[in-house]
Order: sequence, then structure tokens, then C-alpha cells
Amino acid sequence: MHADPRQKPLHAEQTAFPIVDGMLHVGGMPLDRLALRVGATPFYVYDRALLRARVAHLRAHLPAELALHYSIKANPMPALVQAMAQLVDGFDVASGGELATALDTPMPVQHISFTGPGKSLAELRRALAAGVMLHVESEREAEAVAALAQELGVRPGVTLRINPPFELKSSGMRMGGGAKPFGVDAEAAPALLRWLAGQGVQVAGLQIFCGSQSLDAQAIMAAQSSSFELALQLAGEAGLSLRVLNIGGGFGIPYFPGERALEIAPIGAHLAQWLPRLRALHPQLRVVMEMGRYLVGEAGLYVSRVIDRKQSRGEVFLVVDGGLHHHLAASGNFGQVIRKNYPVTIVPQQPQRSGGGTTERVSVVGPLCTPLDVLAAQMLLPAAAVGDLVVVFQSGAYGLSASPTAFLGHPAPAEVLV
Ligand SMILES: *Cc1c(COP(=O)(O)O)cnc(C)c1O
Repeated sequence: MHADPRQKPLHAEQTAFPIVDGMLHVGGMPLDRLALRVGATPFYVYDRALLRARVAHLRAHLPAELALHYSIKANPMPALVQAMAQLVDGFDVASGGELATALDTPMPVQHISFTGPGKSLAELRRALAAGVMLHVESEREAEAVAALAQELGVRPGVTLRINPPFELKSSGMRMGGGAKPFGVDAEAAPALLRWLAGQGVQVAGLQIFCGSQSLDAQAIMAAQSSSFELALQLAGEAGLSLRVLNIGGGFGIPYFPGERALEIAPIGAHLAQWLPRLRALHPQLRVVMEMGRYLVGEAGLYVSRVIDRKQSRGEVFLVVDGGLHHHLAASGNFGQVIRKNYPVTIVPQQPQRSGGGTTERVSVVGPLCTPLDVLAAQMLLPAAAVGDLVVVFQSGAYGLSASPTAFLGHPAPAEVLV
């Protein structure tokens, strides 16, 4: 016998945004009021109190000397990046565009790093002129940086990004292990490090990033131990005194049924054991973790409005004014193998109507002429009418900037930080 599917959780539990008098609140404001303030749907809203709370949660559990960087590609909205500048110890950028966003904030340049395979010469020149730390990803890039440093008369700080021989197990996206376009294979690193050291650049250390979106603390700790061991080995072989060791992040957030929030405390305790050992060998060492999704993902909502409600052969479709062109990830087309629903809820236009508590199984679809434009498939939701708001949770990371906004030519959504 199967259990009644209606008894199963719809999705990972959502508690970050309070419900007051039956109305979802964001930044202390009822969502229907916020929609009026924004003036149009669809829109993204990010809650700065939740950003603060998330960083405070990490700081409470991770060693104080660990540097926490924000990886801007998760959400490059300028106002949000400005807010993050007050909260974290550094930024990681992955393009010239993100570099410009980071340089507009008060973040000290020495705490901005530039990662990414295939940085152009123009981007490298801008980064060197700005004075940010460069994560070198290949031999060609090492040569280009050395030549540009001479041309510009600067002595840039660089770290070498390593493609490790291991990967973060059970992570959503694997970035290490085997053949990869990211970084330099660990086997080739010592020779390149020694070469770089003779080129008028400051070789500050290493970056080892081996995966994303893991909810498994044990797997993260294992990857961190492997990263530390590899870093010590490579530094030893290259005769390098480490001043920066960036071990990536990998911390995930829960989206789907059965997924649970990552436990940070054991990871903090594990790091607290490692840091003194590393410092004993490399006294000037700054260990950096850089993360995107974990810092901002749960602080954002995507809000659209029901513009049609229709039935087709017994199924109910809510057609909303937003869709995959704004939120590709929620449609299941950004790295998912099997489509699963993001957490979604309905906020009625007239709150008093929600009293009935009736639910129905519906699909929420966008306005695009493609069957891929689905925000929720066959999901049990409070009964909704035209004009109601549809809220997609867990939308603060890899949302708007990871979506094909030009597809079908609809207007871009607003983004607000409250
Ligand atoms: C994308 C990226 C990150 C952030 O990954 P999240 O899964 O969002 O935390 C960190 N470091 C590097 C090098 C990246 O490319």
C-alpha cells in the first residue's frame, strides 16, 4: 500500500518568512502590500534581515579566524552585493561585470578574488589594475598574468586554482575529480607554482573548490580534509608558504521533499581542529570559504500573479505572469536531472478568502509558448483564483541572472531588497 500522497510534504519546509494574520510577511511587510509598493508583478524580493541572520549563523559556528567570502555569481543584484559587503570578509567575482559590481562596494580590493576559466586579456588587465587577487586557472592564464604584470608595472597577488583528484560527494554540481575545465590538475601544480614565483607575481596560495549544493556535513568535512591535505602537499612540493587557502564552500540549501538544512556546527568543529595545524606550518595563513547559494538562496522569493485559471481534461492550470524566462532554476531546467518542484505557495489577493483552507492539485505555468515553462507541476496548493500571488521560495540564488530573460521578449521583473 502506498501512503496517501497528500500526506507527503510538498517540499522542504519553509519557515524563514513569517505568516502573520494569514499573510506571508517579507521584511516585516505583508506580501500583498509589498506587491503594491513594487507596482507590478512578477518580481524578486530579497530580505536583508535573512542575509544578516544567515551570516550570523555561520559566524556562530565557524572558527572566528576563518574568512567568509560571498560568490557574487549566485546573485549579482548591486543593492544586495552592497548589503553583503557589510556582512562578509570578501567577494569572489567570476567576470569583468561582477568585478565592476564588487569594486563599487566598500570591500577592500585585497579581499576580492577573481575566478573563472577563460578570463579574457581585457578582464585580466582590469583586475590587475584594480589590484584584486587572481585565481589563476591555467598555464596560458599564468603566462598572461605574468606578462601583464610586467606591462603594467604591478605585482599582483595570485592563487592557483587546483583541480583536485577528489570531489565533494553527494553534491548537486561536481567541480572536481577527473578531467575538468576548472583550475590546473593537482599533478601539474607544483611546477607551475615554482614557475609563477619567478615571474614578478606574489604567489599567495591555492584555491581548491570541489563541489556545490551539498546537504551532507560528513561529505563536506571529508572534502575539506582532503583539500587541506592536498594543499599542504602541494605547498611542500612547491616550496610555497601559504598566505591564502580558499577551500570553496559547497554548502547547500534544502529545496525538495525530504531534504533537511545542512548542519553547520560539526563542520565548524572540524575546521577548528584543522586551522591550528595549518597555521603551525603556514603562520600567515588566511583560510577562506567562499559561498553563494548558502548565503543568499533562502533570503529570496519570486512572486508572480495568476492571470488565468483553466482546466484541461480534468487538470487545473494556473497561468501566471512569470516563468522560466525569469526563474529557469524553478522550472527545473538549470542543472536538474529529474524535474522537481521548488517550494511554492499561494498568497490570495483577498486574505479573508484563504479561511476556507481548501487545497487542490494544480500546475503553475508561465506565459511562454513552451511546455518547459512550468513553475510547479501537479502540486497540492491552496485553491487559487485569478489575481492571487504565487510565491516561489528558495529563489535568492541562481534566479534572475541565471535565466534567459530575452526568451519571448517579456519585460524583465523588478528586483527589490527589503
Ligand atoms: C559558483 C562558485 C562558488 C559558489 O558556489 P555555491 O554553490 O553558490 O556556493 C564558489 N566558488 C567558485 C569558484 C564558484 O565557481
